Amino acid sequence: MSIKVTRASLPPFEEFCEEIRPLWDSHILTNMGPLHDRFRAALGEYLGCPFVTLFSHGHSALEAALRALRLPAGSRIVTSPFTFASTVHAIVRLGFEPVFCDVLAEDGTLDPSCLEGLVDSRTSAVVPVHVYGNACDADAVEAVAARHGLRVVYDAAQAFGVRLDGRPLVCRGDASVLSFHATKVFNTVEGGAVCFSDPSLAVALDDEKNFGIRDECTCVAAGGNSKFNELQAAMGLCNLRHLGDELLERERLDGVYRRLLGGAVGFFSVREGASRNYSYMPVLLRDAAERDAVADALVCAGVKPRKYFWPLVCDALPYRSVPAEVPVARGLSSRVLCLPIYPGLTLDDVERICGVVLGSVR
Ligand SMILES: *Cc1c(COP(=O)(O)O)cnc(C)c1O
Repeated sequence: MSIKVTRASLPPFEEFCEEIRPLWDSHILTNMGPLHDRFRAALGEYLGCPFVTLFSHGHSALEAALRALRLPAGSRIVTSPFTFASTVHAIVRLGFEPVFCDVLAEDGTLDPSCLEGLVDSRTSAVVPVHVYGNACDADAVEAVAARHGLRVVYDAAQAFGVRLDGRPLVCRGDASVLSFHATKVFNTVEGGAVCFSDPSLAVALDDEKNFGIRDECTCVAAGGNSKFNELQAAMGLCNLRHLGDELLERERLDGVYRRLLGGAVGFFSVREGASRNYSYMPVLLRDAAERDAVADALVCAGVKPRKYFWPLVCDALPYRSVPAEVPVARGLSSRVLCLPIYPGLTLDDVERICGVVLGSVR
């Protein structure tokens, strides 16, 4: 069997069955039922964030957060091109204009000094990405945002559970968006959440995910449907119980990679005061040729790494006409390779993978 870049975490089968057993009595499968409420409370406690609204997907959570802030129609939103397509698609699908900002070479997150130069009178918000779970320079981003009256919505899809300066990262800015997709460090099969600090945002987020329906006779907005269902909640409740052990396992694998590959490849650095969730194992090769050679050698050995994030989102077909002066992002994108990391990957697997990498770097 081939080793992929990640593998979805599953709880013990019996544990999941036990969690969903009540559904066969209640027949409540969705519409914010008892499991939804239990999971939301457990999640809020785990994250240390009192205000959390659950969504069917991370992407719908991101769109809902941007809509709930009532930004001026057609305004500009600055974001990073060194991310998953969802970040930029959310901005564009809501009719906003994306503005691509370059990233920091050391960790791939939004460069606050470039941000300042991209803001004009039409800019309404910034969407920084905690790429690979690397906390971005939230203090600097928020200082620029405050100077220009911008809203800040963090794409924290890859940063589940990360803390910055002793505080939960998702408590920063106007809102932070999480993804619980099967490939993420914590999953509910599909799923996502918006974490926020101003409780008045809750109503607008609820309207977004449930047709703007407040009660049987009141519909107040043209909301969509992105409700988080009871089976997702059951998976979340189970996976949350095992997350602590899984993070320790990821940390150990990460340590082995660093020890075996140190000197041969580059690693992203972690901001001072930030914790890590070991969600990805990105390494930096010398150049695109070396990256591609390593990737090919791994594929030959039955291992499937991923070139996250190449190509850059700004080079995708829908965005080719959008100006993007992002040399640092371009450089990282051409040299980066994400190696497999997930609970259940063995130390033998990691040693074998590192052997292939070391055998194919120049
Ligand atoms: C996974 C991801 C998303 C989208 O989340 P889904 O739950 O798959 O909709 C958005 N942004 C980033 C950076 C992601 O990694």
